Amino acid sequence: VVEFRGVGKRFGAMQALSNINLSVKRGEVVIILGPSGSGKSTLCRCINRLEVIDEGHILIDGKEQPLEGRKLYKFRTEVGMVFQSFNLFSHKSILDNITMAPRKILGIDKKSAEARAHELLTLVGIGNKASSRPAQLSGGQKQRAAIARALAMEPKVLLFDEPTSALDPESTREVLATMRNLAENGTTMVVVTHEMSFARAFADRIVFMADGQIVEMADPESFFTSPTSDRAKSFLSSVH
Ligand code: ATP
Ligand code: MG
Repeated sequence: VVEFRGVGKRFGAMQALSNINLSVKRGEVVIILGPSGSGKSTLCRCINRLEVIDEGHILIDGKEQPLEGRKLYKFRTEVGMVFQSFNLFSHKSILDNITMAPRKILGIDKKSAEARAHELLTLVGIGNKASSRPAQLSGGQKQRAAIARALAMEPKVLLFDEPTSALDPESTREVLATMRNLAENGTTMVVVTHEMSFARAFADRIVFMADGQIVEMADPESFFTSPTSDRAKSFLSSVH
């Protein structure tokens, strides 16, 4: 679904990403680990062109990302993104938050969009919150609403950048349970997280980054039990 070929990204003199080669297959859950500043968020943001890359190519379903204009706009709808801060519109109901983009961008009629939104809210476990405002929801409920909103666009891939790092333990559990459901239902996901037990249990692959490079790529069992690089070893000993 997503393929990085020799991708590089600089911020001024800072090489934030260098020579990234990675392909994410349909239904795969790829979890990105690494120390702060290693380029995890930048890598995610490059996928939907929130950052413009300096070198290499990123292909989605074998096609190059469109550079600008309507095509870029359309392309962005194919890549769902869930952030640490939920980015919900505070003056709108949860239902409106979820149906807005499908109606405006995909042209889905109100009734079908709302029916789908109710299904998605049930799927993420907050079926009774459709008419609430974001402020009336807990952090975990807001994040699950944000996940439902991303899913409403039927994205080819869902990106999560530290979706639980702003949440208390109870909310974190709720959101991880929702993500586990999605993973088990074959959603293609790229997840940046510090939740090691989630990574170990649900990743198909772990990508370990340091200094803007992919240092290790392995199945979770091998990564957690026998990391090969010194960077990964010291990272793992610092988080356990
Ligand atoms: P964290 O775990 O703290 O979220 P990260 O792995 O997500 O870290 P990035 O946010 O991708 O790291 O940042 C990678 C590097 O690029 C860092 O050195 C950061 O300072 C730099 N960087 C990121 N965004 C910008 C920007 N807009 N302008 C300049 N430098 C940036
Ligand atoms: Mg980050």
